[in-house]
Amino acid sequence: MVRFVDTTITFPYKRSLGPVTGAFMTALTEKRILGIRNGDGVLVPPMEWDPATGAELANELVEVGPAGTVESWTWVPEPTEQHPLDRPFGFAFIRLDGASTPLLYAVDAGSSGAMSDGMRVAPRWKGQRIGHITDIACFVPGEQSEVDGDDLGPAAEPVTMMDYTASIKYRNPVPPTSDLVVEGSRQQRLVGFRCPMCERVYVGGRGVCPIDSLEFHEQHAIDLPHTGTITNFVVITPVQYPGQTETEPFARVFVLLDGFDVVLAYQPVIDLPVDDVRVGVRVGAVWASPAEDTEGNLYGRLIGWIPNGEADVDDPDLVNRIF
Ligand SMILES: [Zn+2]
Repeated sequence: MVRFVDTTITFPYKRSLGPVTGAFMTALTEKRILGIRNGDGVLVPPMEWDPATGAELANELVEVGPAGTVESWTWVPEPTEQHPLDRPFGFAFIRLDGASTPLLYAVDAGSSGAMSDGMRVAPRWKGQRIGHITDIACFVPGEQSEVDGDDLGPAAEPVTMMDYTASIKYRNPVPPTSDLVVEGSRQQRLVGFRCPMCERVYVGGRGVCPIDSLEFHEQHAIDLPHTGTITNFVVITPVQYPGQTETEPFARVFVLLDGFDVVLAYQPVIDLPVDDVRVGVRVGAVWASPAEDTEGNLYGRLIGWIPNGEADVDDPDLVNRIF
C-alpha cells in the first residue's frame, strides 16, 4: 500500500481590467451584458482589439441580450469541482440577442433532453454581484432573467480590478523511506539510506537509488552525523505575497555532513544573522521540541542548523558542493 498526499498550490493575484473589460464587468453588476461594435458585428464578451486583424476597436459598447439562442451544446453529466455548476448541465454556445458571436456558458436545463439547438435561454444572475463573469450564475431555459436569492444591487463603484486565484491540486506518492526519516527525527535521528550497490548515501527519504533503481527499505537506513559545514547559501528577501509569513531577509544554506558525501540543501539557519552567513561555517543540527509543530517538514523535527563555535573550514572546493 502506497500512501499519497494531496497538495494544492494556489497563486492569488489581481489584474487591472482596462476600459473595455472593466465596463463589461461593471455592467454585469447592473445585470446588463455589453458587447463591442466591430464593423457590422458585435463581439461578446467585448474585446479591445479585433480578434481577426488585431486592429484597435473604437470603444463603442452596446447592450445585448440578456436572452439569447443556443447554437450548439454538449451535456456534462458528471461535473467536476472546476465546473460552474455542481449538478449535470449543458455547456452551450449562446448567441445573445444583438450579438454576432456566441458566448460559451452553462445552461441549467435539468436534463439533456431539455436541451436543443435553437432553444431560448436567459441569464440567472447572482444576488451578490462583484464584477466577474460568474455574476451570471448560469443560463436557464426561457426568455426571463432570474436572480438567485436577494438582489443586492449593482457595484457602488466602477469595477477596475479583478481578483484571480490560479490553483492546482496534485497527488504525490510518499515512499515508506520518507516516513522512516520523519519517525527517526522524533528520536532526533538524522536518517539516510545507503545503496548496497553503489554505496552512495541519500537523505530526505528518497525511495530509490537513482543510479541503480534499487528500492530502499528499513535495512538500508543509517544514522547520519549532526554536524557539518556550510558549502553554499542563498539570502531570500521575502516578497509579501499572500501566505508569506517571513517579513525580513533570511538565509537558506547547504550543509555538507561530516564524514559523508552528503549535502542537505536549503536548510534554515538559527542564531546566524544573514550578514554573517558564509561558506565554511561549522554547524550542528537543531531539533524541534515536542510542542513545536513541524508537520510537513521534509526532515521531520530537524528545524535547522546553528553555528557550533568551531573555526571555519578554509577549503576552496567547498563552494562547489551543492549536492
Ligand atoms: Zn546505488
